[in-house]
Amino acid sequence: MHQQMGKLYVVATPIGNLDDISNRANKILSQVAWIAAEDTRHSSGLLQHLGIGTSLISYHEHNEQSRTRMLIEKLCQGESGALISDAGTPLISDPGYMLVAAAHEAKIPVIPIPGPCAFVAALSVAGLPTDKFSFEGFLPAKSQGRRKQLESLVDFPHTMIFYEAPHRLAALLEDCAEIFGLNRQATIVRELTKKFESVYKSDFQHLIAGLASGDIPQKGEFVLIVAGNTMEKHSMGEEEEEMRRVLAVLLPEISLKQAVQITVKLTGFAKNAVYDVAMKMKEE
Ligand code: SAM
Repeated sequence: MHQQMGKLYVVATPIGNLDDISNRANKILSQVAWIAAEDTRHSSGLLQHLGIGTSLISYHEHNEQSRTRMLIEKLCQGESGALISDAGTPLISDPGYMLVAAAHEAKIPVIPIPGPCAFVAALSVAGLPTDKFSFEGFLPAKSQGRRKQLESLVDFPHTMIFYEAPHRLAALLEDCAEIFGLNRQATIVRELTKKFESVYKSDFQHLIAGLASGDIPQKGEFVLIVAGNTMEKHSMGEEEEEMRRVLAVLLPEISLKQAVQITVKLTGFAKNAVYDVAMKMKEE
């Protein structure tokens, strides 16, 4: 039965530098009957650069359902096709899951053609532990949802990876600093494989200052990698002791809110933790 079926190739494409297309990707894209692409205008540029004339079919989050049915039909009729996205590996914060799942359902062979992926490239140069990590993709665009998700990660002990649009970088760093603490290590990896590629590894305090001073440009694509929480539980006592020492000076003089804000700035501890200790002290 498999002989009559076409094959679905999931093909990674460059994330900036067009030289990153693999020979195999090049060969497959020129051999298949069609290429399903997120933005056909964008991808026709890549195909033109490669001298490939294969026809493009648009496949994006708004037509995913109807296009999945159509493409599965083609595959069942024996046509082989490829799935690409605007950049990097399809399905990684990009469309394609519905098509791949439906292909499995229909017993159509699904073959990866591996290549560029922004988070893998970023992680490989971030200088943070790579033995275990969590790819978090895009956080909710609105601050409330974003903060809620970050709060759920505050004790996560392994490296975390985030994608975000350039105009939200400052807000993302501010929220991370408040929730993870100003001292938490993080790396911003910008414009991978492009002319202004750059890697900034520091703590949130310095990353925010770098962004404010313009040393870290707010333009261009970026991946944010955040160190896991490595504070051992038993050292929490020492942390609390330091918070108490600072809060004991501030609380009698100023409001609880101001005391918490200043303690966060002085100690670099997460705002929630400082707030909890301040509340405890008030009650005591
Ligand atoms: N499928 C892609 C992949 O394999 O990485 C990701 C697509 S997602 C819609 C786009 C996000 O990936 C951007 O907002 C950015 O966070 C990250 N990204 C893509 N290209 C990048 C690059 N050249 N440098 C840094 N980040 C990049």
